Amino acid sequence: LSNAAFDKVWRNARLATLAPAAAGLGVVEHGAVASRAGRIAYAGPEHDLPSPGAAEIVDCGGRWITPGLIDCHTHLVYAGNRAAEFEQRLAGASYADIARAGGGIASSVAATREASLERLVAETLPRLDALIAEGVTTVEVKSGYGLDGPNEAKQLRAARQLAAHRPVGITTTFLGAHALPPGGDDKEAHIARVCNEMLPGVAAEGLADAVDAFCEGIAFSPEQVARVFTAARRHGLPVKLHADQLSDGGGARLAAEYGALSADHLEYASENGVAAMARAGTVAVLLPGAFYFLRETQAPPVALFRRHGVPMALATDSNPGTSPLTSILLAMNMGATLFRMTVEECIAGATREAAQALGLLRQIGTLETGKQCDLAVWSVDTISELIYRIGFNPLHLRVWNGQ
Ligand SMILES: [Zn+2]
Repeated sequence: LSNAAFDKVWRNARLATLAPAAAGLGVVEHGAVASRAGRIAYAGPEHDLPSPGAAEIVDCGGRWITPGLIDCHTHLVYAGNRAAEFEQRLAGASYADIARAGGGIASSVAATREASLERLVAETLPRLDALIAEGVTTVEVKSGYGLDGPNEAKQLRAARQLAAHRPVGITTTFLGAHALPPGGDDKEAHIARVCNEMLPGVAAEGLADAVDAFCEGIAFSPEQVARVFTAARRHGLPVKLHADQLSDGGGARLAAEYGALSADHLEYASENGVAAMARAGTVAVLLPGAFYFLRETQAPPVALFRRHGVPMALATDSNPGTSPLTSILLAMNMGATLFRMTVEECIAGATREAAQALGLLRQIGTLETGKQCDLAVWSVDTISELIYRIGFNPLHLRVWNGQ
């Protein structure tokens, strides 16, 4: 066993490597992937696989292997849910009626503040398991339902703990500028607290890998977001932004100005904003689950992203209010059906482009030598079936970190 060149080889497979140098999906017929110490030691044609062999060989029976899927935008950690509110809305209640009765985001904040750390983890694990069951190997998780120092920190600690319970990569994002805390500060005071108390606390504890904000008329202004981004920069944390979801608030351009990893939603982004994103290398993270659940009608400007060469990622935006979605495969199908993305764009959107949106493209997102060995093996004849089918999970096996 000690003489084996590789820990494990997955052979007799078709690969979608997503390698940037290759055309399209980087397809390799008759391919194999080999791992050593949790990393990809080889990915390519099986007949070029170096010998001697491996401690363990897995025959994939001609199945497809893609990089493990990446959900790069979620609000997965929260307590309670908003099913009752959903039901009231279907029965004719307005958003204003629901807000007056203590519903909306305020109810998620109240439930999340009430919950212990252990309870938050326990309520989140079934949602995480649903993602894992579809071949997801990395999940981004935002705070934003605590909205004060201790509760934002609790949410981020719960997110970090998920990685101790399941074989999955978790990245965390501080979203203190998500909404106004119920019954508390006004917007200016909340932003001051985010910049001067909450963000420094979170950074000091190493609880966040990035900082996010919600730039919208119903949330925070570009000027307020800029202050949060400046504070993030001071603490050496990269930024991303909920931008131009419901109106063109100049969010795409603002994100680009701060060299954001990603700008997310972007239904109303202008061409100026898209061009600025291209220059800054900011990824467009598209979230069809929220578009669907809110019955929006303006799709994000996919043609502009293509024309300007902005990479498009796809994510679930899993959250209790506007996207109670825990299926990355459905998000990929919706990217095609609702946003007219191609099959290649949808697959790249949940692998390579999602990795770039997290600043992790050097570690994950493609099948290339040296990257973490995160794989999804699929029982499909053609890779387009991953996008075409609805409510069907063809995952055969999932490998995270070589295991
Ligand atoms: Zn979101």
